[in-house]
Amino acid sequence: MSHEPQQFSPLVSDFYGYENRLTDQEKDLIVRLRAFLEAKVRPIMNDLWSNAEFFPREIITEMAELGLFGYPYEETRAFPNSAVFRGWVALELARVDASVATLVGMQNGLVMGSIAVAGSPEQRAEWLPRFASGELLGAFGLTEPLSGSDTAQGLQTVAKRDGDTWVINGAKRWIGNGSISDVTIIWARDADDNQVKGFIVPTTTPGYSAKRIENKQALRIVQNADIVLDNLVVPEANRLQGSKSFRETAAVLRLTRAEVAWAAVGNSIGAYEAAVAYAGERIQFGKPIGSHQLVQELLAKSLGNITSSIGLVTRVSEMLDEGTQQDAHSALAKEFTTSRMRETVAWCRELFGGNGIVMDYGVIKYFADAEAIYSYEGTREMNTLIVGRAITGKAAFV
Ligand SMILES: Cc1cc2nc3c(=O)[nH]c(=O)nc-3n(C[C@H](O)[C@H](O)[C@H](O)COP(=O)(O)OP(=O)(O)OC[C@H]3O[C@@H](n4cnc5c(N)ncnc54)[C@H](O)[C@@H]3O)c2cc1C
Repeated sequence: MSHEPQQFSPLVSDFYGYENRLTDQEKDLIVRLRAFLEAKVRPIMNDLWSNAEFFPREIITEMAELGLFGYPYEETRAFPNSAVFRGWVALELARVDASVATLVGMQNGLVMGSIAVAGSPEQRAEWLPRFASGELLGAFGLTEPLSGSDTAQGLQTVAKRDGDTWVINGAKRWIGNGSISDVTIIWARDADDNQVKGFIVPTTTPGYSAKRIENKQALRIVQNADIVLDNLVVPEANRLQGSKSFRETAAVLRLTRAEVAWAAVGNSIGAYEAAVAYAGERIQFGKPIGSHQLVQELLAKSLGNITSSIGLVTRVSEMLDEGTQQDAHSALAKEFTTSRMRETVAWCRELFGGNGIVMDYGVIKYFADAEAIYSYEGTREMNTLIVGRAITGKAAFV
């Protein structure tokens, strides 16, 4: 991507100016990211969403050239960056389109994160650059038809060691881009020690079959899949060498959960910006609807939700940078910002009246996508229970 210098300007919807805390180098990438999203994603996203089609593959390459994949990891780091910056990237992506934010969250976070957290140095060196360059599109296969919130205990896919290989059998559900990925990280239970382990699985491996989940009404650009693993043979070299139990899986999820909280704020901002524009254009009772007090109230409440959420996610990412972030901190952030997002997108859609439910005005996309963000990477209930356990010392999951 060409680098044309442009002025950084904080988002108007970042009311307290948190974005000014970024370094000049980080602001520079944000400027380029915004230019890319406006030029390449915004013009096509509503059609792709309506038709449930994935992004053209060249967009993945351009995102890679921009440095969006692999910047948190030593081997593929384009420049120094902080967790707060990674959060801002998630926000800026979701502000335009939550599917593109989900794509980056999967490739950069869940897939590359699995290899960074649980891979050996050799595996990191072999695989991370290939995802970073966009040569490979990845997917993360944890959830199963019979096991969603309870994957730690309920995961049923089995991996049986057979000499230098593993034979994997089972099924996965909801796997983002699992029907179009080149490589999927599959989490399976070792038949011998009953522990969950991760495997790097090229999707051309015999025994891997994936079917797109049809008629999904949120994040329609992301291609979620049902996957069947039928006597799939994977070499021991493709087992994530540091993955010994669900603890490593949880460590990967810990990395990404706070970024989902940031994406929820971005999705809220997308709806809010559309609502502010519409409030200035739509005339009722002889004046723009933004002149009516109750419409202003919808906007003020939305901005309040967005502003409190930005403060919260900024702090939780600072804690990650400081090394003090615990599971309950990111769980509270995800619970809080996704709940505020649900209110905000509903208020913003409401402001459009009937036009709020047709794609021509776009706000319905933010409204519908909010439902997926609310449920994936830990539902509100699961995150509440993680926080509840931290408060009381008592686990109330079962
Ligand atoms: C768009 C989308 C993309 C996704 N992408 C991926 C992906 O790429 N990879 C992947 O592995 N997974 C993915 N998922 C799966 C996602 O993580 C799960 O949907 C999520 O964890 C919830 O699991 P579930 O849908 O099976 O719901 P369930 O676990 O069946 O939960 C149903 C409801 O019951 C509630 N519930 C469950 N247990 C309790 C309890 N103990 N106490 C109180 N309430 C409870 C839940 O909070 C929820 O409201 C994706 C999901 C979606 C929707």
